[in-house]
Amino acid sequence: MRPRRFVIVGGGIGGLCAARAVALAGHEAVVLERSPSGATLGAGLLLWPNAVRALDALGLGAPLRAIAAPARRGTFRDSTGRTLSSVDLDAIGSRAGAPMLVVERPALHEILAEGLTVRYDAAVSAVDQQGVILADGERVQGDAVIGADGIGSVVREHVCPGARPIDSGHTVIRGIAAHDIGAGDTFEAWGRGEIVGGAALPGARSYWFYEARSEHVDGRDPLAAVGAERWPAPMPAQLAATPPENVLVNRILRLGPLPAWTRGTVALLGDAAHAMEPNLGQGAAQSIEDADALLLALRADGDLAGALAAYAAARRRRAQMFQRESSRFARLALSTHTGPRNLTMRMTPEAVRRRVMERLLRRHAPRPGA
Ligand SMILES: Cc1cc2nc3c(=O)[nH]c(=O)nc-3n(C[C@H](O)[C@H](O)[C@H](O)COP(=O)(O)OP(=O)(O)OC[C@H]3O[C@@H](n4cnc5c(N)ncnc54)[C@H](O)[C@@H]3O)c2cc1C
Repeated sequence: MRPRRFVIVGGGIGGLCAARAVALAGHEAVVLERSPSGATLGAGLLLWPNAVRALDALGLGAPLRAIAAPARRGTFRDSTGRTLSSVDLDAIGSRAGAPMLVVERPALHEILAEGLTVRYDAAVSAVDQQGVILADGERVQGDAVIGADGIGSVVREHVCPGARPIDSGHTVIRGIAAHDIGAGDTFEAWGRGEIVGGAALPGARSYWFYEARSEHVDGRDPLAAVGAERWPAPMPAQLAATPPENVLVNRILRLGPLPAWTRGTVALLGDAAHAMEPNLGQGAAQSIEDADALLLALRADGDLAGALAAYAAARRRRAQMFQRESSRFARLALSTHTGPRNLTMRMTPEAVRRRVMERLLRRHAPRPGA
């Protein structure tokens, strides 16, 4: 395929990875991002081995490992601190051919944006087959448009008019603590309809989250809503070591399966195509896998619309599987029937849990020669 110009709407994880894929395939990519700078929210992000493998394929393996901490072992507890189950993440990583890593989002954005052309303060308000129109009326022409503009995507309106996000009814509070929880540790503690969790970050820091029904959080001071005294270690120490200005509060929105991801030379990618509940930690991973699949599709022979259709065909079933599984896991974790849920968790052998996770991770889009 001769070199083409791609307009990429959105400079989040999905958009930046897509731009890198487009550039690696020998095309020009311009990223349009509505926010005034590349600064992103300071939260932690878990990158499962499938995400790390896809970032490796995009040529980002070395810079990624330089900013990441490994996640070696996950522990699930009840709200009193009793262990329900644990997972050997090192073993999963060895079998998957890449480690599980934890990063701070701003550091990840920095390595993803390195060397790319990103126009900030460029909010897209309309899309057609020739490019996009910005909020100030400027037209930006392109041979193809990639809509990586997140859950509230403008591009999705062109591809799937009327597809609206669904409010999960839950809200997440997140923070980064100047507190060492032990290198390699990740944890969750499950209460009645509410959960906390976190992971060790590089530099003896850690991140944490709390999720509950939105009505429990709305209108309250976020740290008071979490309630440090109600949770086992390390949450109380993490909350005490978190500057309140670092605390983020987000309502959790998701998408149902979309009937199409492409229309001609316009394609959706990342949360714009498959926003899911965060409980499996796969939203960003699936956006990165999208970019990896886009790279493969653009390297194959054929026309532009055909390549975008091939990308969508390679990705839709798998991303939709993660949308379903994420909702299922969210229902289990946030259940109010704690007795049966905790018993199920305690009785499931680690080997079974590990096999389930490996099955989820194995269905990675095949690479030629892999
Ligand atoms: C609480 C929480 C925890 C999570 N934890 C994990 C995790 O541990 N691991 C994981 O893999 N995933 C996780 N996720 C999911 C992950 O954050 C998302 O799936 C991922 O960030 C999606 O990236 P994206 O680039 O597709 O969308 P976004 O990050 O939403 O980026 C979209 C970008 O487009 C820009 N934009 C929007 N509209 C326009 C427009 N009209 N014009 C120009 N620019 C526009 C936005 O400003 C934004 O920068 C979590 C999500 C949440 C809510």
